Amino acid sequence: MSIGLTPDVLDVLPMIAFVVNPSTEVVTSASQSAYQSGLVYRDRVNAPKLRELIAKARMASNPIDKEIVIDRSPLDGGSQVLQARAAAVDPHAVLVLVTDLTMERNVEAMRRDFVVNVSHELKTPVGALGLLAEAILADVDDSEQVQHFATRIELESHRLSNLIGDIVELSKLQGEEIQTVFEPVRLNEVVNLAVDAVASAAEAKNIAIVQAEPIDVVVEGSKSQLVTALRNLVANAVTYSPENTRVAIGVEPDNGSVSIIVADQGRGIPGQELDRIFERFYRVDQARSRSTGGTGLGLSIVKHICLNHGGDISVRSKEGVGSTFTMRINRHQDSPEGV
Ligand code: ADP
Repeated sequence: MSIGLTPDVLDVLPMIAFVVNPSTEVVTSASQSAYQSGLVYRDRVNAPKLRELIAKARMASNPIDKEIVIDRSPLDGGSQVLQARAAAVDPHAVLVLVTDLTMERNVEAMRRDFVVNVSHELKTPVGALGLLAEAILADVDDSEQVQHFATRIELESHRLSNLIGDIVELSKLQGEEIQTVFEPVRLNEVVNLAVDAVASAAEAKNIAIVQAEPIDVVVEGSKSQLVTALRNLVANAVTYSPENTRVAIGVEPDNGSVSIIVADQGRGIPGQELDRIFERFYRVDQARSRSTGGTGLGLSIVKHICLNHGGDISVRSKEGVGSTFTMRINRHQDSPEGV
């Protein structure tokens, strides 16, 4: 029994598949994914590089494999990387099989970037530790100097351990192998735990953390991740605010989602930087942020956690006036009515 390459059969294949008549360039059969990908439009092959491959395959006795990069507009997500195979199955039919490698390639590029950035960021404190140790060795008899350098070693090692902690956190969040266990989580508990974690830093600067009336909202998520995200936002609000100011935390339920808002009266963020602060290792003021012990990873961790929860993070800010960060996440369906 012979089976034709009908659309139903092509749909079974785990890749984009279509059959084209090489002399008329008409597509005679195609999987649904071929249309969805835009590679086949009506009965035509909508990619010149694929048409070239088909023309070559027509003459060849063996299948031809080729990696093809198709430039799309930035609005369509930039270039697309495809692994294509074309084979003449009879004189009037070339079978084309295409696997989209775009996602894999983007993830590989992100990983490479991440490793380069991490190495760069780790070099600074490690280099400083080496220099400080050298300074102590050169001045072992001067106890005042030894104390001064030892204090700085303590500070640098603290920074290093913060950085490593954040890197581990971020890699955990990004690892596809770790499936977050979602459970109903009471937001009031999340807020209390996050505020507790930052309380002493706030107290040291006489910053009052004020909470709006507690509202009993239940969200679907990971409690520890949500606490980490909110703690990062509140910690930033404290770090980037002057003494004797206020940080307000509010919870605003909406139709299927809930917003957690953290507003401060701090230094604010320049408008042109607002898009970039969620990038890994990005700090508005590199030098000043180093002195506050920032890693530049806090907000990218928040962003990842929001994405994991089917939500998002946004910010409004005015220099010299303050910043307001809003985390939006999905509500749990059992959340009490009317809240
Ligand atoms: P960091 O560890 O440097 O705080 P983040 O990713 O948490 O890293 O934040 C990135 C940058 O965004 C910070 O270096 C800081 O410049 C800016 N930023 C974050 N939160 C605030 C805030 N509440 N007020 C002012 N600037 C902020």
